[in-house]
This record gives sequence, C-alpha cells and structure tokens, in this order.
Amino acid sequence: MDVFRYLAPESVEETLQLLDEGAGGVKVLAGGTDLLVQMKERGLRPGLVLDVAGLHELRGIRMEGKYVWIGPLTTHWDLAHSALIREHGLALAQGASKVGSPQIRHRGTIGGNIANASPAADTVPPLVVLEAEVELRSLNGSHWLPVESLMEGPSRTALRPKELITGVRFPHRAPGSRSQYEKFGSRQALSIAVASVAVAAVQEKGRFARVRIALGSVSPTVVRATRVEEILTGEALGEDLIAQATASVAQQCRPIDDVRGSAWYRCQLVEALLARILLCWGEEWMAG
Ligand SMILES: Cc1cc2nc3c(=O)[nH]c(=O)nc-3n(C[C@H](O)[C@H](O)[C@H](O)COP(=O)(O)OP(=O)(O)OC[C@H]3O[C@@H](n4cnc5c(N)ncnc54)[C@H](O)[C@@H]3O)c2cc1C
Repeated sequence: MDVFRYLAPESVEETLQLLDEGAGGVKVLAGGTDLLVQMKERGLRPGLVLDVAGLHELRGIRMEGKYVWIGPLTTHWDLAHSALIREHGLALAQGASKVGSPQIRHRGTIGGNIANASPAADTVPPLVVLEAEVELRSLNGSHWLPVESLMEGPSRTALRPKELITGVRFPHRAPGSRSQYEKFGSRQALSIAVASVAVAAVQEKGRFARVRIALGSVSPTVVRATRVEEILTGEALGEDLIAQATASVAQQCRPIDDVRGSAWYRCQLVEALLARILLCWGEEWMAG
C-alpha cells in the first residue's frame, strides 16, 4: 500500500469541504471492509483518505415522516437487528444479516455497500424493491436519488467524487405489503452471492399489486425483473402463476461465467430463489 494522507473530519461540513478541495484523489473511509481491500490488493491509491466513522449524525435508524431513515454509517449488524427495519423492510434486514460474517457485519456499513456498487451487494436488491433513495450531499447542496438510478455498472455509480452519501430512506410499509430476500452463496458464511432475489409486493384482495423484483449477481448491476413484475400484477398467487413467473425470470438476466458459477447455473438459481419466495408467500396467503 502506498503512502497516503489520513484525516478524520469532525463534521459533515468539514468532510464536504475536504472532498471539494481534493479533486477526485480523495476516498471516504467508513467501515473499510471494501476500501482497505482495494487499497491493499487492487492497486487503489487515493492521495487522501477521509475517515468519517466518527460522524455520529450519519448513524442510526428512525422514522422521518412517511419514510424510514437510515444513516449511511449504520452497520449491517444494526440493520439486521433493528425492529423498525424488520417491520417496514424485512428484505433489507434479511440482506444485511447475510453479509459476510459477524465481524464484517459489525464493521461494514450500508453506505459503503451502496457506494461500492457490487452487483452482488446484499443490501442493494432489497433497497431497490423497497423503493429506497439515497441523499447525495456536496458543498453545492443535496438531492435524493433512487438507489436503482445510482447503479451504473460494476463498481460504478452516479455518485460524484465531491459527493457524500448522507442518508438512505424508504417509504414505510403500506398495509398488506411484504418483502423478502433470498441469497445463494457457495457456503453459509463469508460467501458472496452467486445469485440473489428480492421481492416486494402488496396483497390487495388476494391479488398482487405494486410488485417489484430485483436480481443480484446476474447482470453488471442489480436489475429489476420488470417482465415478471407484470406477470404477477393483478393476479392471485397459485401454482400456475409461480410456474409462469419463474419460467420468465431468467430472461431478465445477463449473467457471466466466473469462479463462483456459470451463467447457466445462475439462471437456474434465480428461478429457484424466486420460486422459494413465492411458494413461501403462497402458503401464508392461503393460511390467511
Ligand atoms: C471478507 C469479506 C466478506 C464480505 N462479504 C460480503 C457479502 O457477503 N455481501 C456483501 O454485500 N458485501 C460483502 N463484503 C463487502 C463489504 O463488507 C460491504 O460492501 C460493506 O457494506 C462495505 O461497507 P464499508 O463501510 O466497509 O465500506 P468502505 O470499505 O469504508 O467503503 C466502500 C466504498 O464506499 C465509499 N463510501 C463509504 N461510505 C460512503 C459515504 N457515506 N458516501 C460516499 N461514499 C462512501 C468508500 O469511499 C468506498 O469507495 C465483504 C467484504 C469482506 C472483506
């Protein structure tokens, strides 16, 4: 690892000032579980590292009007164990609970997982189906952007070098709505997703409404399965519908062959993971 400057700013304003002066050679350090690996093993050489871990205003989970607000420094551990997240966005708690290992979940943050923009990131499919947005702040002001629009490619986001993620939010749970995340990795812990599926939907008089499905590790970014969303919308859950939905989901993927699995295997996995979610919901819907 090369020599670099390290600063721990004491406020968001100071962080934004330093990002503004740094002209792209600056990297924000949150939990460091991605950044330090990239600096040690993948040749990333920032001139200045800004450690924001002490900025307590960027941590926490709370209701803000019609949204659940999450500070970007909130760890996966805290997300997975939050009653508010489990109540309003179960898929996100499930995604966070499947990241790495207990050590990684205690250090790794939701902001880092989003900014790192891996197609295998475990919080991103849940955030996409929950219609989550991120607040991007710079010295010029702030704006909210859907997580779905932020992702531009593997390790590429719409986040500009002078911007900091200062908040993540998603609408609170509507009556009758639910969400679920399923991941397949090659072992129980410390396993990057070979494929993953998140689904959120509202049940209205026994039929699907507001269906959102996101797929991980099967395209250069997390992608929506919009064709499958259309198939499910307005329909009652049953065996034929599940068969139709799962038969279509692989068409929404552009997977690659790599050490973790072949493209063919990944397509089989998304079908199986989607079927698992829908079968599980079917049993509960029928039970009332
Ligand atoms: C052994 C191991 C296992 C892992 N397993 C998984 C896994 O199963 N699933 C999974 O999804 N991930 C996994 N990861 C990846 C990593 O733990 C997560 O992506 C984690 O959430 C990153 O958060 P962090 O706080 O450590 O980010 P950092 O490493 O501190 O930062 C990551 C990137 O985000 C940027 N960043 C961080 N915070 C902000 C902010 N507020 N504003 C702007 N930019 C910001 C940084 O500049 C950097 O580019 C694993 C990593 C390791 C080392």
